[in-house]
Amino acid sequence: MANTLFTSRIGGVSSPPFDSFNLAAHVGDDPGAVAKNREILASIIGLPRNQIFFMNQVHGNVVAVIDEASDPQSAPTADALFTTTPGFALVTLIADCTPLLLKSKSAVAAVHVGRKGLVADVFEATLEVFNRHGVSNEEITGEIGPSICRACYEVDLNTYREVVSHNPAAATDETRRCLDVAGGLAARLNGAGIEFRASPLCVLHTPGYFSYRRDEVTGRQAGVVWL
Ligand SMILES: [Zn+2]
Repeated sequence: MANTLFTSRIGGVSSPPFDSFNLAAHVGDDPGAVAKNREILASIIGLPRNQIFFMNQVHGNVVAVIDEASDPQSAPTADALFTTTPGFALVTLIADCTPLLLKSKSAVAAVHVGRKGLVADVFEATLEVFNRHGVSNEEITGEIGPSICRACYEVDLNTYREVVSHNPAAATDETRRCLDVAGGLAARLNGAGIEFRASPLCVLHTPGYFSYRRDEVTGRQAGVVWL
């Protein structure tokens, strides 16, 4: 049985501009406030803080496998966390990028997918780890959380063309050069035969979410998955 949670900026203790439920330690927030927010997250999901695993996200395609030997205090440099261990919660942090949670009866993964992750095939790299652990695509379901939407995510023309050439479903209108990262990811999930649901919420134009595009100095919300 797998569980999932997407947080918003509501419910934590951080002061502006990180108000209030910032879960990221790398954005300039008071470390004590971040630690308290991570304790709040632990109490919400009902697991001890030392069974919640974060990662140092770099917009790449490395998948870190978390097991009993993993240290919850030392975040691996990766853009996906995978585990087969019940009671270990995996966290992806975002403030515009697309959070993807993948789950099956015996394994779960938290994936950080932005436009760079889409080009770097981090989703496919994560699927390979499921398959290597004996979990077929048909056994996996997905959840795409709130992220910046196709109306808000304007980029320069070269970036637009690079992403769209690799991910045609991320295209919108070249004159506006807005990317649909969640749409591109949804097409990949469909192509892999994975059932999923996707949040319609945009973190930039919906109140209650952190958006780097909108605020620059800001916090990060989370997607969390655990067995
Ligand atoms: Zn939007």
